[in-house]
Amino acid sequence: MKCKNCNQDFDVKFNFCPNCGAKKQTELSEKYKNVYGVWSVTTEGDCEGRDIKTLGTHEGYIDDIAFKLADKCYYSLCFSRVEEKEEPLKKEIKEVNITLAIKSGTWDFSPEERAKEVAKIFKGRPVTVERGKYYASVLLKKV
Ligand SMILES: [Zn+2]
Repeated sequence: MKCKNCNQDFDVKFNFCPNCGAKKQTELSEKYKNVYGVWSVTTEGDCEGRDIKTLGTHEGYIDDIAFKLADKCYYSLCFSRVEEKEEPLKKEIKEVNITLAIKSGTWDFSPEERAKEVAKIFKGRPVTVERGKYYASVLLKKV
């Protein structure tokens, strides 16, 4: 195996690198303990291969991405976690208008009836239902 510290090869039986003394990792790195994330994927030999082909950045579960890209795999697909950028917190949206398709029957109702009937199917969900601003719609509000 290869030492992450000095890049020298050493026998896997050692618990530390005989060249530089760096301790061998015995557990997955924290960032690799969750198979979900944003991954930069490459292929062509192992992850140290010279002619690395980039297969792009993908968000999802490693297995889903791996099977999606399986036809592009040379020997192996190498997953490298992309550090997520700190995004400014989006202002939380508290309400949204929704419309159920005409087949739902809700288009025949008055706005008040519609809100009352639709509220029944959202029972147990963390929203309230009010009459909507737009045609055949209702307004969902977070509670
Ligand atoms: Zn070393």
